[in-house]
Amino acid sequence: MDLAYSAEEEEFRARLRVWLAAVLPTLPPRPDPLDWPARRAYDCGWQRRLHDAGYADVHWDASPTQRLIFLEETELAGAPYVGANFVGLLHAGPTIAAEGTAAQRDRWLPPVLRGDEVWCQGFSEPDAGSDLASLRTRAVRDGDEYVVSGQKIWTSHAEVADWCELLVRTDPAAPKHRGISWLAMPMDAPGVTVRPLRTLAGSTEFAEMFLDEVRIPVGNRVGDENDGWRVTMVTLSFERGTAFVGEVVACRRLLGELARTARENGTWDDPVLRRRLGRLSAEFQALWRLTQANVSEAQATGGVPGAGGSVFKLHYSHARQELYEAAATVLGPDALDLGHDWTLDRLSSLSYTIAAGTSQIQRNIVAERILGLPKGR
Ligand SMILES: Cc1cc2nc3c(=O)[nH]c(=O)nc-3n(C[C@H](O)[C@H](O)[C@H](O)COP(=O)(O)OP(=O)(O)OC[C@H]3O[C@@H](n4cnc5c(N)ncnc54)[C@H](O)[C@@H]3O)c2cc1C
Repeated sequence: MDLAYSAEEEEFRARLRVWLAAVLPTLPPRPDPLDWPARRAYDCGWQRRLHDAGYADVHWDASPTQRLIFLEETELAGAPYVGANFVGLLHAGPTIAAEGTAAQRDRWLPPVLRGDEVWCQGFSEPDAGSDLASLRTRAVRDGDEYVVSGQKIWTSHAEVADWCELLVRTDPAAPKHRGISWLAMPMDAPGVTVRPLRTLAGSTEFAEMFLDEVRIPVGNRVGDENDGWRVTMVTLSFERGTAFVGEVVACRRLLGELARTARENGTWDDPVLRRRLGRLSAEFQALWRLTQANVSEAQATGGVPGAGGSVFKLHYSHARQELYEAAATVLGPDALDLGHDWTLDRLSSLSYTIAAGTSQIQRNIVAERILGLPKGR
């Protein structure tokens, strides 16, 4: 990838800067971070502004460099990120764009881009997390519908979602990776019960989801029946490969803020802390370069990121945790105050080495798919 920006790309940056400077002061105040219905309204409102200004599909259709410029500029300007529609914008949407039929793309993509519909992800089950292919939620065909029963867990944003990308077992007799299908489930269908789970930070951002004979049209299946594992790999490669890239820019900004605070409160005098912050700065710089490489590789190979996403996800999640640990050293007792800006994010950073596949699983993928080592037992 050519890392220099062309005149046309710099013009895109300049136009975006002008637009951000005009629109950001007109946004309503940010909602309480623990109030998910209010966050949904705020995040969808922002998405609608992007849509109306012609930036809505920047995560899917723009060139890789335009996308990176967009992420840099929006973060530098302090604009909101995708928020409650993380799944719709960053992995269900791109999966439907890559694997859906024309009718499915027409039905589901425009409302995501307009900020009208929010998606959640129903993959994990109580006994199927890392070993996702062991999932047991059953879908039995009845004419033009599947009748779905089972339980999902850790379903982020289920409370405020309209649709769920749902993995179901359509052939219990087949080997476990071959009997799965990927369905789009309307969250208001009869038989769907969502029970929010509370995180240690007090947030109900994810939930348990109980499915009791939920009827889902066969036409809501993305990909062929029993070919859902392949479609799942597409979803996960977006989730690990490109969905977190905006956050890397945010971490670079936060690191700068932390260094400023350290200078002000005297913790900067500690050489161990300075070394820690310096190493983190190099780490986020490297992650940004890796992001550029992954995004451009994905573009060159038909739009779907490869196993490099696991390298990124592994390093990013640990670097993010280290950033917040360093913040705790700088902030001292303030780091325990739930009202402090950094505290909720520090608590949620603990989940990064679990969500979207644990670090152990990413290491297995890197070992097998990149280094060519033999499969673990
Ligand atoms: C904040 C957050 C949001 C999430 N959002 C969603 C969501 O929206 N939708 C959804 O479907 N899921 C979601 N998840 C669930 C997430 O995908 C799972 O938690 C994750 O895949 C791990 O599965 P598990 O919790 O069942 O742990 P387990 O699979 O039971 O793993 C337990 C431990 O064993 C280790 N382990 C397991 N197998 C191996 C192996 N083969 N080799 C080495 N070590 C292994 C794991 O690394 C882990 O340390 C979310 C999780 C978090 C934390």
